[in-house]
Amino acid sequence: KELVFSGVQPTGNLHLGNYLGAIRRFVALQETYDCIYCVVDMHAITAELYQPDLKNQIREVTAAFIAAGIDPKKQIIFNQSQVSGHAELAWIFNCVARIGWMNRMTQFKEKAGKDRENASLGLYAYPTLMAADILLYRATHVPVGEDQKQHLELTRDVAQKFNNDFAAPIAERGHEDGFFPLTEPLIGGPAARVMSLRDGSKKMSKSDPSDFSRINLTDDADAIAQKIRKAKTDPEPLPSEEAGLAGRPEAENLVGIYAALSDRTKAEVLRDFGNAQFSAFKAALVDLSVEKLGPIGAEMKRLKADAAYIDSVLDEGSGRARAIADRTMAEVKDIVGFVRS
Ligand code: ATP
Ligand code: MG
Repeated sequence: KELVFSGVQPTGNLHLGNYLGAIRRFVALQETYDCIYCVVDMHAITAELYQPDLKNQIREVTAAFIAAGIDPKKQIIFNQSQVSGHAELAWIFNCVARIGWMNRMTQFKEKAGKDRENASLGLYAYPTLMAADILLYRATHVPVGEDQKQHLELTRDVAQKFNNDFAAPIAERGHEDGFFPLTEPLIGGPAARVMSLRDGSKKMSKSDPSDFSRINLTDDADAIAQKIRKAKTDPEPLPSEEAGLAGRPEAENLVGIYAALSDRTKAEVLRDFGNAQFSAFKAALVDLSVEKLGPIGAEMKRLKADAAYIDSVLDEGSGRARAIADRTMAEVKDIVGFVRS
């Protein structure tokens, strides 16, 4: 049975990259799949432990899911820490994954920076918790931005090793193709990796100290206009063909954003804007961004004012998620060989 799972960290400052690379695609997938969308609050404390505003950050991601168009009655929206199976399965996966696998993870290297000895153990183990998030529901498809590709590969490696190492008890229990699926990443489109508006070599990120590097989903029209106008570019006009974007990361990024927001390809956008100056292209991009993001930001603000409603969505979603998770964990414990009553 096919099932979609994905998560977003409540680390503040939800941005255009989160929307185009992830949340907007969550909305589209609910037409064809059963979907579970998780506010991964346990991941959110891996880099910075004490966040005084964490509760509101959790509510903000929840509000973004709903404001973008995910239907909490049909799909499951919940926060990770309310379902204990995530932590339990992550522990088992810490015993499945090899240290050598973890040492190859580039996100850890980027986030830990130079002072690696001082990074939390949780940041190091982030990918096994992510594997647990996905496999706790035996999800078959995971929509994510390009930056998560390596973690999805590790998830498949974990599933495969678990299936192999426990092949005998898994077969005994009648699972013919292994217990965990080899989950497919759904990565793609013109905005799978939205770059910083200040530096075309860095991805747009919640944690970038410069607010001008990103468009936040709650930015008003003026802020959006100012940030796009100030976005870094090069002096040449836009090329008329996609090949002309090679070696021009800032131009490619803005064209990719325009393409994603207008549901077109980069080539189609360049058919309209080829040879245009950036000033004209940016003006069009401001209008399009305000048109597409304005209503979402406004709805997020409206929803955030009603914390009781948001919390009821998370509570209801957690109950539904827990029902699935508990079944998986019971079987996992039997497969591993734990005694349970
Ligand atoms: P942090 O800096 O705290 O890691 P983040 O911006 O990377 O924050 P996450 O919560 O880690 O956000 O990721 C949520 C989803 O958004 C993931 O699917 C991720 O791949 C996607 N995503 C994050 N940044 C981008 C980006 N710049 N372009 C496209 N997708 C992105
Ligand atoms: Mg991230």
